Amino acid sequence: MKKNRWFIVAISALVLSSCSQYNQEPTNDSSDNQDSTVNDSTPTDEEQEENEANEPNEDIPEEDPNETDQSDTDEQVDEDTLSLPSEYFNDIEEVDGQAVIQNPDNILTFVNHDYLLPSDYVPDDLVIPDVKFSYGFQDIPKSYMREEAAGALEALFGAAGEENIELAAVSGYRSYDRQQELYDQAVARSGADQEFVAHPGSSEHQSGLAMDVSSSSVNYGLVQEYENTKEGQWLADNAHHFGFIIRYQKDKEDITGYGYEPWHLRYVGESAIEMYESELVLEEFFDLVREI
Ligand SMILES: [Zn+2]
Repeated sequence: MKKNRWFIVAISALVLSSCSQYNQEPTNDSSDNQDSTVNDSTPTDEEQEENEANEPNEDIPEEDPNETDQSDTDEQVDEDTLSLPSEYFNDIEEVDGQAVIQNPDNILTFVNHDYLLPSDYVPDDLVIPDVKFSYGFQDIPKSYMREEAAGALEALFGAAGEENIELAAVSGYRSYDRQQELYDQAVARSGADQEFVAHPGSSEHQSGLAMDVSSSSVNYGLVQEYENTKEGQWLADNAHHFGFIIRYQKDKEDITGYGYEPWHLRYVGESAIEMYESELVLEEFFDLVREI
């Protein structure tokens, strides 16, 4: 485990000291309310989706004072010739002016505002992981993940439980149609230039490889304060051992195009270790990694 490396600790301190600028308090009328900007009458799913909206951060803290160390690490990654077989790279085709991923079953599928999942893509191996859910067991789309990711999530939850870390799954698979519905609602409410809900196809949740995770300590909300809880910290320190990354990192908002989401786990398999140790978000990883 490399979590004791001093720069990680230093960065953690930086994160903790700057978190007050992301002050998304959970509302108190529902355990699933996460976004104080959302009208109380909107459904829970919508709040979750809106909380993951496209909110490029305009309030980015100063550069990490340890960036020299960081740069050294990046160079080391280069020298180590970070490489992957071509099957792990996006196969892109332009459809109606948008870059659409043609190999969405790829476990490293790279989804963001630029690379969209196809409108008809539904993973064919979705299962409900045997873990605690914030809303109890329900056979509904958001309970599902792809099989490999679900197994990894079970292992992660099991390890957390052994350390008395209480986690709950909050939101997994989300269909293209559901994204479209949320997008249309946001546009109807806030206009075509709204920035609360991302374009359909750009949600990692459609890949079946993402799960939002929270804990009772924050009323199972998807809130940035989660990073300050022992459960959120445990996730940040340990998720990579189970093939997960915290996909939308603090200080990387301008790269990912998303606000910081300490609750959003994305399964990437073994590459999670490299991304964690090098502090690379998926965008940076694919900038560096060589195709073999
Ligand atoms: Zn999420």
